[in-house]
Amino acid sequence: MIYKNFQDLKLSALGMGAMRLPTIDGDDHHIDEQATKEMVAYAMEKGINYYDTAWGYHGGVSEIVMGKVLKDYPRESFSLATKFPGYDLFNMNKVDEIFEKQLEKCQVEYFDFYLFHNVCEMNIDAYLDKKYGIFDYLWKQKELGRIKHLGFSAHGDLPTMNKFLEVYGDKMEFCQIQLNYLDYFFQDAKAKIDLLNEYHIPVWVMEPLRGGRLAHLSDEHTNELKTLRTEETTPAWAFRFLQSIDSVTMVLSGMSNFEQLKENIKTFEEEKPLNEKEWDTLLSISSQMLEKKTLPCTACRYCTSHCPMGLDIPFLLGLYNEHCFTEGGFIAPMALSALPDDKKPSACIGCRSCEGVCPQQIKISEVMHDFTEKLG
Ligand code: SF4
Ligand code: SF4
Repeated sequence: MIYKNFQDLKLSALGMGAMRLPTIDGDDHHIDEQATKEMVAYAMEKGINYYDTAWGYHGGVSEIVMGKVLKDYPRESFSLATKFPGYDLFNMNKVDEIFEKQLEKCQVEYFDFYLFHNVCEMNIDAYLDKKYGIFDYLWKQKELGRIKHLGFSAHGDLPTMNKFLEVYGDKMEFCQIQLNYLDYFFQDAKAKIDLLNEYHIPVWVMEPLRGGRLAHLSDEHTNELKTLRTEETTPAWAFRFLQSIDSVTMVLSGMSNFEQLKENIKTFEEEKPLNEKEWDTLLSISSQMLEKKTLPCTACRYCTSHCPMGLDIPFLLGLYNEHCFTEGGFIAPMALSALPDDKKPSACIGCRSCEGVCPQQIKISEVMHDFTEKLG
């Protein structure tokens, strides 16, 4: 196992995410505890010492199961991470109640790593609002030793992340972002890494395989990669990409079965970062995958001054691309929920003034209509 230095700790570079644990009969709330126990035993034996759960994973059951399973191991032999569920605004005034409950569910006296979960457009104002006192409460828990390291995870856009860092950047010890070779540019992950580097905050990676999408590529792309390294599996390429980025300290993978666990551990036995040609090839594959399924908006913003409704067209098209590529998901609806109704895609009146100036000839009015329909 590769280990990374983090302050006075040596963390396994691969962490076990507990959001896609094995389940019984496909019921997300019904975790297969025996299978999870066996997977954790194997992970421990092979040197994984970081386990990441959250209040909302598996409908709240993940924390309970991980607590039960990890109880069999000396507390100092692993790091446990969980998160404050600020993705639901109804939780904002319950930070103390939720935190106490999480300790109880996980059967621990402290969390090694604790995160503001999913800082994004929808909750940034509440997260920063003194009246909820989220930060003050969590900071107090850190002073009491009930949180060893405080950080945040982010699915929001770059300006939102910046807004959070401007206030709490000097207090955050790590940040979890969605990072993989598809999202390096698509979700602005590169710019997010650069921003975190400015604050000297190490990167924790979520969705290294983009929900499994990068575990299987087309035959053409698979063969292209085989010509570079015959021995690598398709998922391993995604991990090798991450092993090539200096500030990446932790890669979290939500493994659902033994085979995935074994294969991922094998990839993390040895660091094999990409050379320049391999790096470029992966980014080129990423562009080709995105080209087929996304609109070619370059964010030139020529269109925006022509919109009588004052819509932030490139921003909305970016969300549309994300939504279409992911075939749904929560990111676009969450970002849109932070906008007033008169700035949402549904506010488009179909005048097409924007289309005449779009160098990419995007049929913007149709896209806004389609986006509105997709969002229901
Ligand atoms: S078609 Fe829609 S997005 Fe384009 S200018 Fe008119 S209102 Fe704005
Ligand atoms: S003019 Fe076209 S390419 Fe430029 S920002 Fe608007 S939609 Fe995107």
